[in-house]
Amino acid sequence: MRTPFIAGNWKMNKTLDTAKEFMQEVAGQLPDPTEVETAIAAPYLFIESMMEVQTDKTLKIGAENCYFEDSGAYTGEISPLMLADMGVHYTIIGHSERRKYFNETDDIINKKILAVYRNHMVPILCCNETMGRRESGEKIHWVVSQVAAALKGVSEEDAKSVVIAYEPSWAIGTGDSATADQAEEGCYLIRQTIADLYSDELADGIRVLYGGSVTPKNVVGLMAKQNIDGILAGGSSLKSESFIQLANYQ
Ligand code: PGA
Repeated sequence: MRTPFIAGNWKMNKTLDTAKEFMQEVAGQLPDPTEVETAIAAPYLFIESMMEVQTDKTLKIGAENCYFEDSGAYTGEISPLMLADMGVHYTIIGHSERRKYFNETDDIINKKILAVYRNHMVPILCCNETMGRRESGEKIHWVVSQVAAALKGVSEEDAKSVVIAYEPSWAIGTGDSATADQAEEGCYLIRQTIADLYSDELADGIRVLYGGSVTPKNVVGLMAKQNIDGILAGGSSLKSESFIQLANYQ
């Protein structure tokens, strides 16, 4: 019922040439989007060129972030209106690196989510969990409060499309993925939160992803879990070969 979703997050990596090469290398190698949807969130600068060299529309090209105003005197920012105008469908919002290095608060993330929907795009909302909070037993409260704060004021109609990624900070870029059971527990918790905020039916329909050191080796075990509908991969999305393997996990 929920189409599996394999997404990549390139972060601040690649050059224009290597971004375009990736597009050529994955052409014809990714699954039919009606069976497994695939997307890459790329640096803003490369998005247009990646779309131009794309020979089919199988892989969706998304953004890693955006500002929450549509236009104005915000030097250096990229607006959701600009992204939508370029044909972007997905943008990551609230990644733990944005929260940590760029001081993004729940309030800013909420404004960004509303701005993405206002421009008819779909957010991939990231929720993190730190090892400290896991060990102190605060995990549930922490994850639930991030989801609730990010979706404040989001209509039921819009919420139906949201994609939420459970990304424990201790698993990101460390090579130390959460176990399939830990990932399932986090994704289940997010789905329950959506059921509480909206309805069971809506929660059943949304896609929840796991992110944090996913590789072609551990993807199968993660994807076998009931509440894990997809993956948000950082390092493993940079090379076309491993991204193709992730996408064809079945
Ligand atoms: P990783 O990153 O796969 O390199 O751990 C995941 C992410 O930050 O989205």
